[in-house]
Amino acid sequence: MRSCPTLTAYGRHYCAPPRRLVSLTSTSLHRHNSAPFLNFSLFTAFRSPFSRMETGTGSTGNKAMVENMKRFGVISSKKVAEVMEALDRGLFVPVGSSAYADTPLPIGYNATISAPHMHAMCLQLLEDKLQPGMRALDVGSGTGYLTGCFALMVGAEGRVVGVDHIPQLVDMSIKNVEKSVAGSLLQKGSLSLHVGDGRKGWGEFAPYDAIHVGAAASEVPHALLDQLKPGGRMVIPVGTYFQELKVIDKSEDGSIKARTETSVRYVPLTSRVEQTGGF
Ligand code: SAH
Repeated sequence: MRSCPTLTAYGRHYCAPPRRLVSLTSTSLHRHNSAPFLNFSLFTAFRSPFSRMETGTGSTGNKAMVENMKRFGVISSKKVAEVMEALDRGLFVPVGSSAYADTPLPIGYNATISAPHMHAMCLQLLEDKLQPGMRALDVGSGTGYLTGCFALMVGAEGRVVGVDHIPQLVDMSIKNVEKSVAGSLLQKGSLSLHVGDGRKGWGEFAPYDAIHVGAAASEVPHALLDQLKPGGRMVIPVGTYFQELKVIDKSEDGSIKARTETSVRYVPLTSRVEQTGGF
């Protein structure tokens, strides 16, 4: 039997996925689109005691959601807790859905807003590259929630770009952000949301200290590697049915190192037609 390192999430022990260095070439897999893709970690979502628990409404519910994640060890960073507490998730999800439960939610166009634990995990993985004044790219920005969190992390001196290929989602994300505490950053121009094919990145403000991809790529897009700053970090789910959240670091000399953080299930990073069936 292989030895099973345990780790605690949501107060329970379970077998952690092996953490290892991987080469980029080993991330290339075949596409398979028929599975019910959602945005969550396979190693936390099913074990979360509050996955279906609503924690209240409005800012009270949002605060309780963050408190729960702190309590169960999902959030360890003070800054990430502050940012997630400041940006009300309820402003970014469809009316009537369980905004503060730890679950992904459908947002239309075969997309989902990721589960809160997934947003917390990505923010923490990228925290060192989301310092005030830094630049970040969020590919597959969807509701704009995580893009808004990035903007609060880097502040008015930083630059955050969100890209999604569904124009209606980009319109919605702009309205969501406008209603939120990140609205002033959008107004001042340190945060912007664009329609585009995120597989090509967004050259205008490259290179980026942090790149996040919110949809699973069959392989890491070269344009995104090119647009990552030396010393920068990318977090990207890679795979088709079986997916892994990869943490990719570009060193100062331009060399690339990648490791697997955990197993996940995300919607695919694909073409607009493939995602929507042509509608
Ligand atoms: N991170 C967002 C949305 C995650 S869902 C949130 O939590 O709200 C994944 C998003 O990726 C969807 O909005 C989908 O439209 C987008 N997407 C998929 N393929 C894309 C591509 N090639 N370019 C840009 N966006 C893409």
